[in-house]
Parts: sequence; structure tokens; C-alpha cells
Amino acid sequence: MISKIILEDLISQTKKAIDKSTSIVIVSHVNPDGDAIGSSLGLYHFLFSQGKETRIIMPNSFPNFLNFLPDSSDILIYDDYQDEAIDLIESADLVFCLDFNQLKRVGAMEDVIKNCKATKILVDHHPFPDTFANITISHPEIASTSELIFRMICRMGYFTEMNIHSAECICTGIMTDTGAFSYNSNSPEIYTIISELIKKGVDKDALHRKLYNNYSAQRMQLMGYLLSQKMKIYAEYGTAIMVLSLAEQETYHHKKGDSEGFVNLPLSIHGITFSIFLKEETDTIKMSFRSQGNFPSNTFANRYFNGGGHLNASGGEGLGTIEETVTYIESILPAFYQEWVDNNNNNKEI
Ligand code: 5GP
Ligand code: MN
Repeated sequence: MISKIILEDLISQTKKAIDKSTSIVIVSHVNPDGDAIGSSLGLYHFLFSQGKETRIIMPNSFPNFLNFLPDSSDILIYDDYQDEAIDLIESADLVFCLDFNQLKRVGAMEDVIKNCKATKILVDHHPFPDTFANITISHPEIASTSELIFRMICRMGYFTEMNIHSAECICTGIMTDTGAFSYNSNSPEIYTIISELIKKGVDKDALHRKLYNNYSAQRMQLMGYLLSQKMKIYAEYGTAIMVLSLAEQETYHHKKGDSEGFVNLPLSIHGITFSIFLKEETDTIKMSFRSQGNFPSNTFANRYFNGGGHLNASGGEGLGTIEETVTYIESILPAFYQEWVDNNNNNKEI
């Protein structure tokens, strides 16, 4: 038995909104990850099976390693097809907003979505959701938006209709947002859901191979280079920082998604509870934060780098150059670490 987490009223409002809509759009956040794509496609395949005209629009492109997901090639990328995307959003009567808590997370699509006439339904698991949607299904205690999509479809009474495509995409999101069941994955119900997805025909082991054993040689070489040459350990603060410049990306023929997961690597070092990865992009520095235990990576991201996310996985934007950002981190880290130690001693949260 899977417990009823989403409020009954929200389920019935969502069902009604789907029933009366004829043109549905699903959107998710910039730099879409496995959960953004998995939850969107999981819902898309379900809606398609119900005869609903549905399009997925992502703000920008997603990593190649997700290309195997059924119908991922039908996803419209706003950056590449802006006019078509705007037309679709403006004429939609229902827009699902998946896997983000603030409208600014859709980047350049923000105003189009804010001003469109459609009913908006937010399904998300990040803390502190904004109130831009007509229906807000927000559960930070749940490990992935994909799990929420599974729960939503079941609660609307369509479990038997869920097809293998939908199941495979949902399984992908659950797997990627728990680091292949290595964090945020102590809830027994995750495994009840995975069991149901396997019964639907998902080959979980094959899915794991497609997601994690599918890298290029250059990506592995880049990883080796970063670990041996670029990882800085701040042992007294249990922290590691790695940076990847544009020049290095060029040298190693870096493609989108190639540095996915690098931020997790230093956490396997004894005593490291906080890992920061900085990736230089043409107009910004993308920062990824990962932590273990109760070290609040999202407070760090939000307080200093205009970002946010989950306690153990968050992101933000660098300030100035990569070197300036690292210097700034070095200046704030000791006090932040001390604050965490003090609060732990006093049983307080940062
Ligand atoms: P990643 O490091 O994989 O890009 O992101 C990790 C987590 O942090 C994801 O849950 C993502 O939604 C969140 N995140 C990443 N970048 C940002 C950001 O700039 N702002 C906010 N609020 N969340 C972010
Ligand atoms: Mn997610």
C-alpha cells in the first residue's frame, strides 16, 4: 500500500483541469536534469495515452545521456524554437510546471508563462514554493518530482493505464534524483513504487546502465584530470572545491551533461561533507553544491549565490570570474562552517 500524500482536493482539482483541457504544455527548469525530463515525459506519456494534445517545452537543452528516453526528441527547446514555444504556451489551456519552486527557474520563459491564460499546476519537491500556480502540489519530503507524478497518476485512478514508456521515464527521475538510491532514499515507499514500475515492464538494471555506464572516454579523462589537478581540499572545513574553465572544456571536447555528477565525487573522501563545483559558461558561472548529513548546501547557495535547492543538492550563480568566486568562497566558508558546527552543538538549524 502506498500512503495518500497529496491532498484529495488537489487531486480532484488536477483531474478536472486535465479533463476539461484540450491543449496542455509541460515545462520544467533550466539545465533540465533526469528528474525534470523524467517527470515531464512520464506525465506526457500518460496524457498522450488519454488522448490529450500535449507538448513538453524546456528552457534549454538537456544532456545527451537522456536521449534514450521514449519521445525525448519531441521535447521543444525554447532557446532554439522561441516563436513556436511562445505560441504553444499562449494557446495552452493547462500548463504543468514540474520540478521547480520559483518561476525564475524557467529562465527566459518566465514572463510568457506568468502572463499566459492557462491554468497552472505546479508539481514539485523543492522547499518554499512560490505562489504563481493555480494548483500547487509541493512535497519537499518526497525525493523526486517523478515520484509525485507517479502518485498523482495513481491517485487520479489511472494506475492500470500507465504504460511502459511513462513507467520508464518516472523510474529515471526517481533513480537520478536519489543518486541511484544512494541519498534521499530511505523512504520504504520508494521501493514499493519501483516494484510497481518493474511490474509494468521497466528493466531497472538496464536503465541504470543507460544512465550511468554511457559516458565518453573524454568525459572520463576530464574527470581524471579534474580529480588529480583541480580538486582543492579544505580539510578543516570538510569542504572540497573543483573548478572547470571554458578552456578546459574545449580541450576535453566537453558536451552538455559531461560534467554531470562530478560534484558528487569529493563526497566519497573521508571527512568531506560539502562539495562545490564551478563550471565556467560563456555568460555566467554555474555553481553546484552537494552535502551530506545536515550540512545545508541550499542555505549556502541561497545566502551567497542567489540560488537554492535541496538541503544536500543545490545550485547558484558565481560572482565575477571563476578565480574571484573561489576567493569569495574561501572568505565566507570558515564562518559558515563554524555557524553550522555551533548550531549543531546547540541543536539548531542554520
Ligand atoms: P545541479 O547542481 O544538479 O544543477 O542542481 C542541484 C539542485 O539545485 C537541483 O534541485 C536544482 O533544481 C537546484 N538548483 C540548481 N541551480 C539553482 C539555482 O540557480 N537556483 C535555485 N533556486 N535552485 C537551483
Ligand atoms: Mn527533482
